[in-house]
Amino acid sequence: MANPYKHFETQAIRTQSRQSEHREHSAPIYMTSSFTFEDAEQARALFNDEQEGNIYTRFSNPNNNELVDKLCLLEGTEAGIATASGMAAMFSSMAAFLQAGDHVLASRSLFGSTHQILTKIFPKWGITHTYADIDRPESWEALIQKNTKMIFVETPSNPGLDLVDLEWLGQLAAAHNLLLNVDNCFATPYLQQPAKWGAQLVTHSATKFIDGQGRTIGGAVLGSKELINEVRFFGRHTGPALSPFNGWILSKSLETLAVRMDKHCDNALKIAEYLEGHPELEFVKYPFLPSHPQHDLARKQMRQGGALITFNVKGGLERGRLFLDQLKMISFTANLGDTRTSATHPASTTHSKLSEAERQAVGIYPGLVRISVGLENVNDILEDIEGALRASKGVRQVAAS
Ligand SMILES: *Cc1c(COP(=O)(O)O)cnc(C)c1O
Repeated sequence: MANPYKHFETQAIRTQSRQSEHREHSAPIYMTSSFTFEDAEQARALFNDEQEGNIYTRFSNPNNNELVDKLCLLEGTEAGIATASGMAAMFSSMAAFLQAGDHVLASRSLFGSTHQILTKIFPKWGITHTYADIDRPESWEALIQKNTKMIFVETPSNPGLDLVDLEWLGQLAAAHNLLLNVDNCFATPYLQQPAKWGAQLVTHSATKFIDGQGRTIGGAVLGSKELINEVRFFGRHTGPALSPFNGWILSKSLETLAVRMDKHCDNALKIAEYLEGHPELEFVKYPFLPSHPQHDLARKQMRQGGALITFNVKGGLERGRLFLDQLKMISFTANLGDTRTSATHPASTTHSKLSEAERQAVGIYPGLVRISVGLENVNDILEDIEGALRASKGVRQVAAS
């Protein structure tokens, strides 16, 4: 696709589907299941991939094309497909390439449903996996098998906020001729561009920061034309297509991604700095705090530290639960990447089915709280956290203003 714009913000705002005869300024929503053919010859050419154009919304649609064109510019990839959810993107990006007998090397710190695909769904089709520890990169190369086809990672990880060195991993994947697939949902292309470091597939849950306002589910798979052709074939015939309405929302949302991420990260850094050394906390983890064990790596591969912070409250599991119950403003919800700050307690919710040892292996301590920092005034967010820390200690005081 032609790219007349140099800068991220301009690409995100000015990449638009072609204006219609109505000369609209904002892109319309193309709620149509199919597109008409001018004549038999055009229909033949479209179906035979001799001409580019829309046929049926399960294959492509102007709103989804606009979203994908933008994401390609922002991530620095040639091509992509939009999907109905992040999980449809994760699944399509793997299933399009893997067959019985193949093996996936994956980071142990993965989104829950991605973990279910690898451990419960793929084994039914003879596709195996090995988990590698995110904090022991030196162990990864030995885990590559003769039948390994793909490496799959998330960085920063959820909720551990550990990082994978993408430059190192890109080289490892290239040396072994493996497909490197990076779920870039937490960082977004504004903070980190995995393709620049050698990822051949970049996957997204657009539900998070790309929508950024907690309204819709969506996803995308991005990569080279050659690889995306495989994913497109898979999607075209298995149907994970995004609704044009949601594609329109997500494309509009990208227009404000840069300003939103700047503010998310600014708020998050202020909160992390404030909470560091707090007497009620065992630790605070945030990639752009100098105390983060991979702070240098974060500075190298991320523009800013992201919107997620974790901290471990003193008092373990019960204190963690009590802390959540005492929040007044911050939402208690499983989603993240919203304008509204939200909090979760992984040990008693998302990761409660794991054993204590499994939780420790991915950095989930009993008192760990994950905050997805929103766009409210940072003092209101801090006041709520401070108030809940105090109230969960059993000492009820009026929150400082
Ligand atoms: C939410 C999420 C997903 C799944 O996305 P959905 O849009 O909910 O299907 C995948 N990976 C990561 C890292 C996520 O946070």
